[in-house]
Amino acid sequence: MRSACALKVHRIHSLQLFQIQQRHHVRRLLSQLTSEEAGRRASQLAQESLLSSSSSTTTTSTTPSHHLNTLLAHAGMESNMHNAPMSPPLHLATTHTRPADGVYLTEDSKYGRMDNATRLLLEKTVFEMETMGLINNANNLDEDDHDGDITPASTIPPSFAFSSGMMAVTALILAHTGPITVILPDDVYHGVPTVLNNVFLRHNVTIVKVDMMDVNSVIEAVEEETKDKKDIIVWMETPSNPLCKVLDIASICQRLDPIKKKDSESNITTVVDGTMVSPIITRPLELGADVSMHSGTKYLAGHSDALLGVLTTSPETPRGKELAPILRSVLVDAGGVASAMDSWLTLRGLRTLHIRVERQSQTAMAVAQFLDQHESVAAVHYPGLPSHPNHDVAQKQMKNGMFGGVLSLEMKDQVEATAFAAALQTIQRATSLGGTETLMEHRASIEPPGRVTSPPGLLRMSCGLEDEADIIRDLDRAIAIAKQVTSV
Ligand code: PLP
Repeated sequence: MRSACALKVHRIHSLQLFQIQQRHHVRRLLSQLTSEEAGRRASQLAQESLLSSSSSTTTTSTTPSHHLNTLLAHAGMESNMHNAPMSPPLHLATTHTRPADGVYLTEDSKYGRMDNATRLLLEKTVFEMETMGLINNANNLDEDDHDGDITPASTIPPSFAFSSGMMAVTALILAHTGPITVILPDDVYHGVPTVLNNVFLRHNVTIVKVDMMDVNSVIEAVEEETKDKKDIIVWMETPSNPLCKVLDIASICQRLDPIKKKDSESNITTVVDGTMVSPIITRPLELGADVSMHSGTKYLAGHSDALLGVLTTSPETPRGKELAPILRSVLVDAGGVASAMDSWLTLRGLRTLHIRVERQSQTAMAVAQFLDQHESVAAVHYPGLPSHPNHDVAQKQMKNGMFGGVLSLEMKDQVEATAFAAALQTIQRATSLGGTETLMEHRASIEPPGRVTSPPGLLRMSCGLEDEADIIRDLDRAIAIAKQVTSV
């Protein structure tokens, strides 16, 4: 039986509960929360929670910290904008009106070479993709608010979109002070030594070639060059074009770190050209490099219809931070900018990059295995094959068990290679790589005379998105025809 005191307490509680319910009821009646109001409030709360979480995570924008695939699927979309277009706007205007008081607002566009909005969207997306796994990038970006920047650094990330991959290479050299030594791998896209020889030898640039599979050789070459207190660019390319060699980015960067710290008079820059696989597979800035470079013409744009190059500087390494404002100046002052149309096409391409690279890697692996077992093929170069000399490094460095869509194969000689390429029906004979169509190319005959490095029977193959069985059937038939033609 309840005591009188307990009954009193119970009555007070019931009364209080009743009063609270009444107050809620009255408030609901008074406020009449409409669906519009509910939507606005929910959206505001979501934005606030995003801002508070992005200040403690690695995101650089007000987009949620998604996985790379999600970021790419929305490439170029500004989801926090009112009535945002689902596809990025293509801004073709080269100039914009100036306010009546003559003072531009920070976010105003001024002139196409400086700040084309479509190009800036591409640069922002590339930066987010390249630095996905880096810690502290948001903080570092805010600190880097350089004088003379066209808009604050927080809205312009250190990715730079140029008119071609080769313009990106050129810009990187221009960002250094002569005398410059460029240390190159022994197997490298032929355009790089070509621009160095044809253009930059007149500008106090020296080339040193080393076998970069051997980390000690790289270190020795750098130590030798530091004796003359020069600017030194360690140009890495992985996988290499066309032999698909895979160098160890992290080891090279780690070993160079103490040399960079000790020798403040030599500017040592580590750059990685990752064109052959895209950032889906290799992200050099996460491995300690100062700069990542891509010919966007290849996988990033991905449809053989845009010409573009990108550089991204590390927001973490001292050299990366130093180079960012210099490269921005080389881009906008020298003017080798990516066009708005090519930037738009590249943003469009980025939306499917992850899916394309995954499928192209699967096909390349199947093709490499098929060719490797074929008695008429002299050699296959593909880092996914366990017999590849750098397979261990590739497994460690290349992401998600993917080894890229490019491989090369060797026939007995140039005659047999030419006959093989001529007999292909589905696979197209053309230069370039990274498109949706499978391409085959005899490399030695496109390399500049006097600087041919590819073996005479070597064909480079870039796998597209066709059915794997059709590609393998085409290869099988073409090898048989080549044998028939060359055995007479
Ligand atoms: N780097 C690599 C590995 C390449 O394959 C290419 C072009 O084939 C380039 C750079 C140069 O790029 P672009 O042709 O866009 O100037």
